[in-house]
Amino acid sequence: MILSYKTFVLEYKRPFGVSSNTRTSTTSVFIKIEHQGKTGYGEACLPVYLGETVEGTIGFFEKIKPFLVHHASSSFAEIIKAIDEFSLENNAAKAAIDIALNDLEGKIERKPFYDLTGIGKSDSRLTSYTIGIDAEEMIGQKIKEAADFSILKIKAGTKDDKALINLIRKYTDKPLYVDVNQGWKNKEEVLEMIHWLHEKNVILIEQPMPVTMLDEMAWVTARSPIPTIADESVKRLKDLGALKGCFTGVNIKLMKSTGLTEALEMVKYAKQNNLQILLGCMAESSCATSAMAQLMKFADYVDLDAPNLLKNDPFKGVNYKNGKVYLNDLPGIGAEPIDALF
Ligand code: MG
Repeated sequence: MILSYKTFVLEYKRPFGVSSNTRTSTTSVFIKIEHQGKTGYGEACLPVYLGETVEGTIGFFEKIKPFLVHHASSSFAEIIKAIDEFSLENNAAKAAIDIALNDLEGKIERKPFYDLTGIGKSDSRLTSYTIGIDAEEMIGQKIKEAADFSILKIKAGTKDDKALINLIRKYTDKPLYVDVNQGWKNKEEVLEMIHWLHEKNVILIEQPMPVTMLDEMAWVTARSPIPTIADESVKRLKDLGALKGCFTGVNIKLMKSTGLTEALEMVKYAKQNNLQILLGCMAESSCATSAMAQLMKFADYVDLDAPNLLKNDPFKGVNYKNGKVYLNDLPGIGAEPIDALF
């Protein structure tokens, strides 16, 4: 198995603001793994706030390269397990390798991932569309640009979130998800805010409080009229146990979970433990987004809008129409590079 990689800057159509920062691009390191005349593709998307660097990611790939050459006869599941032992971190780099190996396996077996794993196909699902924090005029403009989408996800955690939601409501009455990115600290105020949001047709609240405030989150969730979803509080399968009673559901993302293999285990754990499932993404390309869309059958909520936010997506995969994300029938993850990326 031959691994090669390519660093690529994904540029946004519009600057994207969250409670902690505003970005105009995200760097991804794309990989391909060639084996038995087939090529599997993967992506490590590296938003700066997650702390994974291009250098660290490439360093990890360089460590894995000889391992892949020498273990080409092992099963893909064994390889994925062994690669996890190479470091404690590098979740995005591990995700890229996992996505590429699952893509490769699908191509060798001529089956989409959803068939290969017996998940089954979900042809299409409504996805939310994210509106980042921005100046008033730009928010109005972004809402107009999101005309196709019937659910909007609002990034809150601003100085005055009630003013933000009132502003949004000047432009649209669509149902909203609100993602606070840990921006609120006082549990009584958080609960009061959630009740106010509920009256404004906000139907889901994501990570309202810091990851360290689990007891307070349990108090809020027990009283919340809408589902509370953990994002920053959960990366991998091992983190799910601590959530019991603290959140209604979990936002699963490939760049946190180390790829499709563990994301599928997380989905199964969530189902068994009565946790709702939101399938999410970083600002990643159609490569990783198409991989995650393979799991749509299990989702209570789908937030896979990232390719719509990009102006230079180097992959073609899932399609979007009337606010829905559509899976294709291609083998593997259902995505291919659109030009000479490598
Ligand atoms: Mg989030």
